[in-house]
Amino acid sequence: MNTFRTDREYALELDSQDELANFRGRFVFAEPDLIYLLGNSLGRLPEGTVDHMQFVIEEEWGRRLIRSWNDGWFDLPERVGSKMARLLGAQAEEVIMADSTSVNLFKTAMAALQLRPNRRKIVTDDLNFPSDHYILQGACRLAGPTYQMQVVPSPDGLNGSPEGLAEAIDEDTALVTLSHTLFKSGYVYDMATVTDLAHRAGALMLWDVSHSVGAMPLDLDGCGVDLAVGCSYKYLNGGPGGPAFIYARRDHHDTLSNSVSGWMGQKNPFEFSLGYEPAPGMRRFLTGTPPILSLATVEAGIDMILEAGIDKIRKKSVRQTEYLIALWENLLAPIGFRLKTPRQPERRGSHVTIGHDEGLRIDRYLVERMQVLTDFRPPDNIRLGIAPLYNSFADIYTAITRMRSVVKYDLYLDYQLQTMVVT
Ligand SMILES: *Cc1c(COP(=O)(O)O)cnc(C)c1O
Repeated sequence: MNTFRTDREYALELDSQDELANFRGRFVFAEPDLIYLLGNSLGRLPEGTVDHMQFVIEEEWGRRLIRSWNDGWFDLPERVGSKMARLLGAQAEEVIMADSTSVNLFKTAMAALQLRPNRRKIVTDDLNFPSDHYILQGACRLAGPTYQMQVVPSPDGLNGSPEGLAEAIDEDTALVTLSHTLFKSGYVYDMATVTDLAHRAGALMLWDVSHSVGAMPLDLDGCGVDLAVGCSYKYLNGGPGGPAFIYARRDHHDTLSNSVSGWMGQKNPFEFSLGYEPAPGMRRFLTGTPPILSLATVEAGIDMILEAGIDKIRKKSVRQTEYLIALWENLLAPIGFRLKTPRQPERRGSHVTIGHDEGLRIDRYLVERMQVLTDFRPPDNIRLGIAPLYNSFADIYTAITRMRSVVKYDLYLDYQLQTMVVT
């Protein structure tokens, strides 16, 4: 771990050896001095997306108008889904783009409960994303009064608990659902092992891979996963609110049903018959008209990840998080910062979380006065997201040395706390 040096020249040396370094120049850098470490929350805008959108807006919408539905718009959810499948370790026809992650979680959770009608329990953990909890609570309410969630506690607020899950999953469990990479700590579950735990008890496994996709290779088919959802606007750089995806293993396709059944998921939408019959395959998970413009931005984002290669992205990500942790150890740990992310690279995603008792004020100081965009998650977590396609080692170096100054010189003390909607 401590083979990393802590001088600025060393960061520049690492950048000069970086085989993905050229991708940085293909993103919009409107403020060249801004250190952006929130690619885990909203990815940067690729230049290619700007060009692609100009074409989609002016040509496809502006000139071709409604004819574009037959020139590729109608199939866009599948086409983008088939590209997404390559990042998920899935077959092309196992993935479709639709709605938001939250809505897709609802659809897939309800479908899972219907596949296991005699089981009444959903198992998750207390570090899952709050929206996932809210959606699952809603699904339980709707499914009936005997349905319940069992929330497995983390031992330390940082790591997941495979042991706790093994205890909780039983013959009454219909569904196990977790975030693959946890949004606060960046802990990554062993997908194969946990999926196997669910299956051995006869339960279905539903992964939310929002914080993994685009940052590391995934192998949903290889792990035998039943269902998965995730979003496109984080490491995939698909744009704010870009549509999310749904994965379902092929052998489930004919038996899954969509609780929000709408005309776009109907077998023959343009027959306009009044009875619902599901479309074959993943198309049944569509509800209404797909958001074509945001699907187009998502496609441009995925294309770039595929071009760079997900294995190379993961390799750089691991090296960058190792580097960040080494800098923390040398420069931040001595002045009260704590590492809140697993040390083992294979148990870690592409963001690193650093805790400090004054975390909120430090974060606000970094964001508002030091040109370093990080975010804060209660109670004390400052998250530093690394997007290997555009974050340099020098970005990481600058961010950590500025964090050090904020505490070393008590700069955060004169900072007035204020409430912000999005941190
Ligand atoms: C970002 C994220 C979401 C976002 O859900 P939306 O419906 O797009 O708002 C959901 N789950 C996890 C684990 C996330 O990290």
